[in-house]
Amino acid sequence: MMQSYDEGLEVFLKEAKQAYIKMFGPERQGDLKTFSQREVCVYEEGRRLSRALLEAHLERDKWRQPAVEEVIPCPRCQQPSQPVKGGDLELRPVTTLVGEVTYARPKYRCAHCRKIFFI
Ligand SMILES: [Zn+2]
Repeated sequence: MMQSYDEGLEVFLKEAKQAYIKMFGPERQGDLKTFSQREVCVYEEGRRLSRALLEAHLERDKWRQPAVEEVIPCPRCQQPSQPVKGGDLELRPVTTLVGEVTYARPKYRCAHCRKIFFI
């Protein structure tokens, strides 16, 4: 089941709280003395939070039903394709600016080419 807006916000706020603790928690202060140590920690936590946001946003695609009027053209012949109902999603690791995430892409079928493709 797809997370509600409030549930997703709660999950993100917990992640953000962890980032804050990593930067300002008393037990971490001995590890964050130099500029470089602070910079690396901020960078890593920022990437972690960014990745969490991207993954949460991509997760919503699993629950998305294409609108009836939405036309996805076949990448080969440009004819309108149909979503494969009940088809498994293709789980693909994608390297992004914030690290690797898993992208679940929905399947579409082109009746003209008789091919399955992912968007
Ligand atoms: Zn086609």
